[in-house]
Amino acid sequence: MELALTAEELLFQREVREFLDSGLKPEWRGVSDSDNRSQPEVTAQWQAVLATKGWLTPAWPAVHGGLGWSPMQHHIFKEECSKRRAPKLSSMSIGMIGPLICLYGTTAQQAYYLPRIISGNDVWCQGFSEPGSGSDLASLKTAARRDGDEYVVAGQKIWTTYAHYATHMFCLVRTNPLAARPQAGISMLLIDMKLPGITVRPIRTIDGEHHFNEVFFDDVRVPESCLLGAENQGWDVARSLLAFERSGIADVVATRQALHDVLAIAAGEARGNGSLLQDDDFGDRLARLEIALDALETFELRVMDAGPRCAGRAHDASILKILGSEVRQKIHMLGVEALGQVGAVWPDDAAPAHPSGAGRHLVQDALFFRAASIYGGANEIQRNIIAKSLLKSPVEI
Ligand SMILES: Cc1cc2nc3c(=O)[nH]c(=O)nc-3n(C[C@H](O)[C@H](O)[C@H](O)COP(=O)(O)OP(=O)(O)OC[C@H]3O[C@@H](n4cnc5c(N)ncnc54)[C@H](O)[C@@H]3O)c2cc1C
Repeated sequence: MELALTAEELLFQREVREFLDSGLKPEWRGVSDSDNRSQPEVTAQWQAVLATKGWLTPAWPAVHGGLGWSPMQHHIFKEECSKRRAPKLSSMSIGMIGPLICLYGTTAQQAYYLPRIISGNDVWCQGFSEPGSGSDLASLKTAARRDGDEYVVAGQKIWTTYAHYATHMFCLVRTNPLAARPQAGISMLLIDMKLPGITVRPIRTIDGEHHFNEVFFDDVRVPESCLLGAENQGWDVARSLLAFERSGIADVVATRQALHDVLAIAAGEARGNGSLLQDDDFGDRLARLEIALDALETFELRVMDAGPRCAGRAHDASILKILGSEVRQKIHMLGVEALGQVGAVWPDDAAPAHPSGAGRHLVQDALFFRAASIYGGANEIQRNIIAKSLLKSPVEI
């Protein structure tokens, strides 16, 4: 595919730049470099600016506010936002459950939930993993028993990112414990986090932040109108969602921004008579990562460009997830190395600052993105999916 921008794409790029220059306040830039919920009120304001412009949900179907942008337009928009360190939006609300409700929701669900996602009124979290059911997700045990026109939910979720901010959870539950295959007895419920019987407990991570939680359900009564898709068909719904999630994890533009940070740091670090950038070994490793990132970017655009022609190629999302997370981790670690002593210190307020200004968030990102090869389905599992898909194995994936 052609990577050079066409005249129309250049015009679009200019429109995006003008919009960001006027709509993105300087004080909003960089607020969510390390944690996309660290200043939720700023994220909400930025989301409102995007919604007013009509650019909040460009990838949704047109009937629900999508814009039909080409893959290159999406890429340009994300790249320009990333360059200006625009606040990160909730990928679970805008990027995952929104498109899923467009796909599987009833008319009533679409009318109720979609405007609330767009307005930022509702913020979603993902209730898939359980203790003992991560990679082997189909073994999940949280039960939803029918009682009249309600489901009674009992069990526990874990590693639930931002459950402490979320107003709602899209949650996989077991509705038929006797199904012939474990996958056949699962449903997806859209659960209001304020319902009685839900307890959220924090889990702190190596980067010092509170990203995720344990969530306990103690006979929570969920109306049947909150079932997304058909009862016991939740596995298919979940697989569509995981494809959205895994493709998004590659996040090439954010990785490109990290690469620019590493370049800036290395250019300012003295080595011999020159800078670290001129060091043969460092320069070689940086160049290899830049080439890998270029290849990943081309692959991402090709996958997006192929769109529906690639239906059934579940392994594309897995390839993007593996390569994206691995390249990102390597770039961050190179950045930590370039930071020298600053990179070796825990990045709290008392830590020495690096003149580039990139030090703190780069170290935090390097620590946080260790998790990128685990969340969204561990990379080993993605390799299994790729192998089974390409070998056309009849085994369930
Ligand atoms: C930062 C972060 C945020 C997360 N956010 C959420 C969230 O919001 N919602 C949610 O539901 N979950 C979330 N998760 C959980 C995530 O989806 C799981 O951690 C992941 O699916 C792996 O499951 P597990 O932790 O139980 O590891 P396990 O399944 O116990 O795996 C442990 C190791 O064994 C390997 N392994 C397991 N089975 C196989 C196999 N068959 N073949 C080869 N290797 C195998 C795995 O690759 C892994 O390396 C998050 C995780 C992290 C780290």
